[in-house]
Amino acid sequence: MAGATVAKYLRMWGDSVEVFLVKRNASYTSNIMSSLVLTGQRTMASLNYSYDSLFNAWGVQVLRDEVLEIDPVGVKVRLASGTQLAADRIVLAPGIDFDPVPGLGNSDRMPHAWKAGPQTALLASQLAAMPDNGVAVLTIPKTPYRCPPGPYERACLVADWLKQRKPRAKLLVLDANADFVTERDNFSRAFNDLHGDVIDYRTSAEVLQVDPATMSITTAAETFRNVDVVNLIPRQRAGSLVTATGLANATEGRFAAVDPLSYASTLAPRIHVIGDASATTQPKAGHIANQEAKVCADAIIRSFASLAPDPAPVTNSACYSTITMRQASWLTAVFQYNPANGTMQPVAASSAASVGWNKDHFDQMNTWFKALMADSFS
Ligand SMILES: Cc1cc2nc3c(=O)[nH]c(=O)nc-3n(C[C@H](O)[C@H](O)[C@H](O)COP(=O)(O)OP(=O)(O)OC[C@H]3O[C@@H](n4cnc5c(N)ncnc54)[C@H](O)[C@@H]3O)c2cc1C
Repeated sequence: MAGATVAKYLRMWGDSVEVFLVKRNASYTSNIMSSLVLTGQRTMASLNYSYDSLFNAWGVQVLRDEVLEIDPVGVKVRLASGTQLAADRIVLAPGIDFDPVPGLGNSDRMPHAWKAGPQTALLASQLAAMPDNGVAVLTIPKTPYRCPPGPYERACLVADWLKQRKPRAKLLVLDANADFVTERDNFSRAFNDLHGDVIDYRTSAEVLQVDPATMSITTAAETFRNVDVVNLIPRQRAGSLVTATGLANATEGRFAAVDPLSYASTLAPRIHVIGDASATTQPKAGHIANQEAKVCADAIIRSFASLAPDPAPVTNSACYSTITMRQASWLTAVFQYNPANGTMQPVAASSAASVGWNKDHFDQMNTWFKALMADSFS
């Protein structure tokens, strides 16, 4: 999300700027909307986005390769193919990686499905194969993690699906946090009232150990054995490239500290880190990744003209949460740069959440998603 958007806008706003976008896969698979694959409401193919428009419409040089190493001082990139690139600026947008979970090893019996792809399809098939009176577990890691409302909306969606497809099944939600980390009014009502007969919600329940052979999960309070399906979402950190480059200097060494006027790393002024890999006061969300990318592109183009970055950037985020298979709630926030402390600060008057959920919001979610993906990829 962040990488595609910054590449597009660097070309759109800086006609003479040469841009290389290095990405691992032939196409991008959207995480946004991927929980709907679990309920059969979307296909994996519907989440695929081509990079062709970035080249055809905007002249971005798209390289299918893997970045192995970055020289933050010489501003150079070494790729798996052996190619070396030298640049005036490097923008890193590698997303997230996961902490290892004790006991999990290489087992795929407890998928995270938090990077959309084969794990999403695997979790969908595990849920479909679950016995009618089965128990599924969804674990929520400590903050900060990718998409704060995401695990709660996935729990609601799966609970609604279970009611229809496996009416005697239960969903145990183990939240490592002390309470809902966002949209508390809507999620607490959905968990306790609407889905109260399906969802069993435990707070401060960090996963300490798992055993895929016996499908067991241990928290400080309890061990749950022989569960049927486990959606294990581990604790998160910036994509390994950020750590390997020595730029993960915030959030206990998990994410990259940046200057939100340009998203330049606080350690390497010509390397920018955007999207989920950076540590800012904004949520780790695709919409915010898109916004950060534009602020970053603008700052880079200004710097090429020896101009300072925009001193007062504003970003915004909209988020729709599926509360049932047909109804959604929403949450929106606007952030403005605060020069007093150098952070993006929420603008209270412009931040709001829906009171409850309905079908109109669900339909608007599809419109919002199409617009965001078009802005990022075409
Ligand atoms: C279930 C779910 C639902 C979500 N719903 C929403 C929502 O409703 N709204 C919202 O705003 N956000 C949502 N999000 C969050 C959103 O998906 C992320 O915030 C967003 O994808 C972050 O963008 P990014 O560019 O930082 O990372 P990504 O989108 O993960 O992109 C990182 C890219 O970098 C590539 N890469 C990594 N390392 C290398 C390397 N060494 N070489 C080459 N390429 C590399 C990866 O392959 C990947 O393509 C959701 C997430 C999930 C999991």
